[in-house]
Amino acid sequence: MSLQSKLPDVGTTIFTIMSRLAAEHQAINLSQGFPDFDADPALVLAVSEAMAKGQNQYAPMPGLPELNIAIAQKLNHDYGWMPDPETEITVTAGGTQALYSIIGAMIGQGDEVIVLEPSYDSYIPSVVSFGGIVRTVQLLPPFYKVNWDEVESLITSRTKLIMINTPHNPCGVVLEQADLKRLEEMVIKHGIYLISDEVYEHIIFDGHQHQSVLRYPELYKRSFVVFSFGKSLHVTGWKTGYVIAPSELTTELRKIHQFNVFSVNRPIQHGVAYYLKHHADFAALSSFYQDKRDLFLKLMSGLPLKFLPCYGSYFILADYSSVSSLDDRAFAKQLTIEGGVATIPLSPFYRNGSDEKIIRFCFAKKEDTLIEAAERLNKYFKTR
Ligand code: PMP
Ligand code: GLN
Repeated sequence: MSLQSKLPDVGTTIFTIMSRLAAEHQAINLSQGFPDFDADPALVLAVSEAMAKGQNQYAPMPGLPELNIAIAQKLNHDYGWMPDPETEITVTAGGTQALYSIIGAMIGQGDEVIVLEPSYDSYIPSVVSFGGIVRTVQLLPPFYKVNWDEVESLITSRTKLIMINTPHNPCGVVLEQADLKRLEEMVIKHGIYLISDEVYEHIIFDGHQHQSVLRYPELYKRSFVVFSFGKSLHVTGWKTGYVIAPSELTTELRKIHQFNVFSVNRPIQHGVAYYLKHHADFAALSSFYQDKRDLFLKLMSGLPLKFLPCYGSYFILADYSSVSSLDDRAFAKQLTIEGGVATIPLSPFYRNGSDEKIIRFCFAKKEDTLIEAAERLNKYFKTR
């Protein structure tokens, strides 16, 4: 029997590979993006109490009403936009499932999607798995700015969607007001749709304001906006997020969502709703993570690596071309095994790979973890 793969070029994700390698070699894991510190105990308690109080059966398909209301209020507070909790908010099993279901709802055989590369690893395979065709525009180091003229030149009568991500994984850059304005014009002019991946909305530094699509009412009319509680509440393992989209788009999304997951973990939704109402302080996340970025850069300042600008997300890129001519996968492997610190090579964020000699560090870690990683790296590079 010969099985024709839908995704012949796809193997195991780089995050799984590097986290596994880190564990095998007792390396400090600055590869996969997750915090190594705990969430607020009040959040954990709220979820445990929901379980103890019997909140254990299916939640409604679009999300628990009290959570959808709490989300609407949060977004109104943050971006001055109050989506309708019943018709514009869908709670999902994290950002990745949200993206997959949106793409499933929008993309069929031969539809084109514009993706900015490097991009989060799920985007391109998700489009391809529904028969879509990906057109890529390259973001170039060190600032990874979008060339919107180039984006516009790729739009054809088959173009259905553009995908953006701000703050950006893996580049750590953010879109500005001018980017969103240009995008708004383009999307309206060509009658296409937008997926805006905003899972790092609160992890933004140096006074930059997060340019959510929710700040742009005309753009929002053609958009799906993706958020994740995993990032904003330090609980990536809970895999809970949500999509905001106008009701017509939400209706289409839910047609797929209901057969993809049907509904999302009820006690978590219950606990998060309670937490959003009583405890959450998202504004504090910027300085919390900016301090981590700054500490990371200070600790690593003596290394022969060139760090690229980082204005948001959990991540910072580093150019290692002055110390090695290995490709980035080989270099990241060597650094894990011999240096005791795991990172992520940049090339898996490109459809056809890249040879930029850049690796990604995750600094969403405890101070002690970052200190230990810096000690190991300083020692490693001194003895080479
Ligand atoms: N988009 C980006 C840019 C991400 O970095 C992540 C992190 N995994 C996701 C989406 C997916 O989020 P989640 O873990 O909630 O599925
Ligand atoms: N978003 C995380 C990262 O970029 C990992 C997600 C995953 O493991 N799939 O590291």
